[in-house]
Amino acid sequence: MILTYIFETYLDIRQHRALKLPTLPKPLLGVISDEKFKRSRDYRLHRSYFHFVYEAVTILMHTAILYFRVLPWVWKKSGELVKIVGLNAENEIIHTLAFLAGAAIWLQIIGLSFSLYSTFVIEAQHGFNKQTIWLFIRDMVKEIMLSMILGPPIVAAIIYIIQIGGHYVAIYLWGFMFVLAVLMMTIYPIVIAPLFNKFTPLPEGVLKEKIEKLAASLKFPLKKLFVVDGSTRSSHSNAYMYGFFKNKRIVLYDTLIQQCSNEDVIVSVIAHELGHWKLNHTIYFFVAVQLLMFLRFGGYTLARNSKDIFRSFGFNDKPIIIGLIIFQYAIIPLQHLLNFCLNLVSRAFEFQADAFAKNLGYAPQLREALVKLQEENLSTMNTDPWYSAYHYSHPPLVERLQALEVPDNEERQLLEII
Ligand SMILES: [Zn+2]
Repeated sequence: MILTYIFETYLDIRQHRALKLPTLPKPLLGVISDEKFKRSRDYRLHRSYFHFVYEAVTILMHTAILYFRVLPWVWKKSGELVKIVGLNAENEIIHTLAFLAGAAIWLQIIGLSFSLYSTFVIEAQHGFNKQTIWLFIRDMVKEIMLSMILGPPIVAAIIYIIQIGGHYVAIYLWGFMFVLAVLMMTIYPIVIAPLFNKFTPLPEGVLKEKIEKLAASLKFPLKKLFVVDGSTRSSHSNAYMYGFFKNKRIVLYDTLIQQCSNEDVIVSVIAHELGHWKLNHTIYFFVAVQLLMFLRFGGYTLARNSKDIFRSFGFNDKPIIIGLIIFQYAIIPLQHLLNFCLNLVSRAFEFQADAFAKNLGYAPQLREALVKLQEENLSTMNTDPWYSAYHYSHPPLVERLQALEVPDNEERQLLEII
């Protein structure tokens, strides 16, 4: 964990140095205005300083938790608390829920100070934050209530499955998580997302017609088109799609609609998103995530009965939740390596989706959209190649614009003939 931290901090320092450069990278000169560059530089440097503090606190906290044997202490105390309340501490599910409640309160306190600073200092100073402290508190209360409703049954089910799972526990766990993921993907947009944001159907008009025409031409089963009021919280902009099989929805941020100069620019963003769908990117990622989850449970099955592992972390018994937590700690470096690999694939997919939009004739509009989104979100202009190769799920703007500039095969042949 510490070695991973040192390596990633080295990358952060490299990126911080790139952020400090006083000029735009050459390909963006004249494309991005000087004013936007200055603002993005200030914003990203501020975020970068914040990130250093956040990462340092996180690694110190986790190291202290393991080194000072906080886990066995909290496990013991939560057991005593269960007894005081008059419940059965021998019941592992009840004991686990008490333990996790304590952990959740602690993480909530730590996380709160960071998210308050991030929202009301950084985002506010750079003109992104649109929410009041009341909206922030209301969101937080809703989130806590949701996790109090959804958390316990899920945790109880996982503990129960591991208790009775036997040799095939990895398969049962994976099956449970698969069903849960599908269930969440179904109810999240209908039940949970509307708790936080307002989704209204895109009004009739040129934009709607153009998107529907594009979807129809690609045989995309577009069922509904929504606008979400992202602007009540932040002026960051985006668009996404979701849904199964023949029941797809596209959601546009109201900020995206406000920021783009004409409909075709927005449609080019949709063309890119539809590229992800047409090229099966979403399915590939879903399968990869499922496979990795199965491997993770398999790894856990191998480690879960080792007395040595538990003893090394200060436990004489073998609580299931502790096994899961220790295993999770142990695979952190592997997890980061895996994220790097997934980023490699994701960036290749982004180029493919851009090329897809380009082949539909949206290259100039998509270029405009990418530049606009980059400006409005004050995204990083100067990127360190090591840092972006490791962390970025999307290629840097410079590379995307260059790829959109290269003529298509047909055009290239034509040029060669001329
Ligand atoms: Zn994309």
